[in-house]
Amino acid sequence: MRRTWVFFLAVLWVGGVWAQATTSDRAAKDAVQRIVRHSGLQPNFVVREDPTLRTAVAYIKDKQRVIAYNAAFINGIVDSTGTNWSAISILAHEIGHHLLGHTLDPEAVRPGDELACDRYSGFILAAMGVPLADALAAMEVAGDPHGTAHHPPKHARLSAIEQGWHEWFTIRNNTEPLPFTLHDDLQYVVAFHGDANTYYVDATDQVLWYDNYAAPIPFGHFAPSRSKDYTYELVWNEEVYYVDRRLTIWKRAAAGMVQQVGRMRTYGRE
Ligand SMILES: [Zn+2]
Repeated sequence: MRRTWVFFLAVLWVGGVWAQATTSDRAAKDAVQRIVRHSGLQPNFVVREDPTLRTAVAYIKDKQRVIAYNAAFINGIVDSTGTNWSAISILAHEIGHHLLGHTLDPEAVRPGDELACDRYSGFILAAMGVPLADALAAMEVAGDPHGTAHHPPKHARLSAIEQGWHEWFTIRNNTEPLPFTLHDDLQYVVAFHGDANTYYVDATDQVLWYDNYAAPIPFGHFAPSRSKDYTYELVWNEEVYYVDRRLTIWKRAAAGMVQQVGRMRTYGRE
């Protein structure tokens, strides 16, 4: 008798989870579809409920990009914030991990990655027309005030969401600091053999490299050569490279040997 009762309870419980999972699954897929659409992309993520997770997570399995979540966690956040947008903000954060390439290196622990995804979440929610308070709601209830090994403290994450949210309005209002141009005020393109980076000489004879955010990193200068055998020099730190009339770059080794190490060309000419 007693055994039957336990069995009956177990069936009820499993049935309850299943019923809830079906609803959440549709809502989660709908949410992911909407978020990705606002990025101008067609969604190609697998969205999956996983009761073994504590929260929500993004990972790659069998070459597919997966967003998995614990439905009870999502429902709990929605209940305590009183807004469905809190669920969207969590899923947007996980989508950010995929779009920013973080899931390619699942072992890496980089708190900056979390802030980048928080920022993305704020940005997308603004694009969806969600008020700032709703974009922040999930982090308000679930953020850790002190942070954890993987996650920065709540105040930093809230401000990342807020930054992303404002960034969307900056873009929408067309308040970019400068008009975008393909044509920069540069003199030469500098390439070294075996170095995949491209360097430039700008109008003030600085040697520049552009980082991944398009910010110029000056690290040397370009000048007429002090040696009569060459036309120009490229100098950084202790290194001096000699450039001849045909814009070939040479390095002097010990014992007066010279070696061709790269090429320059006039900017704007292939
Ligand atoms: Zn994350």
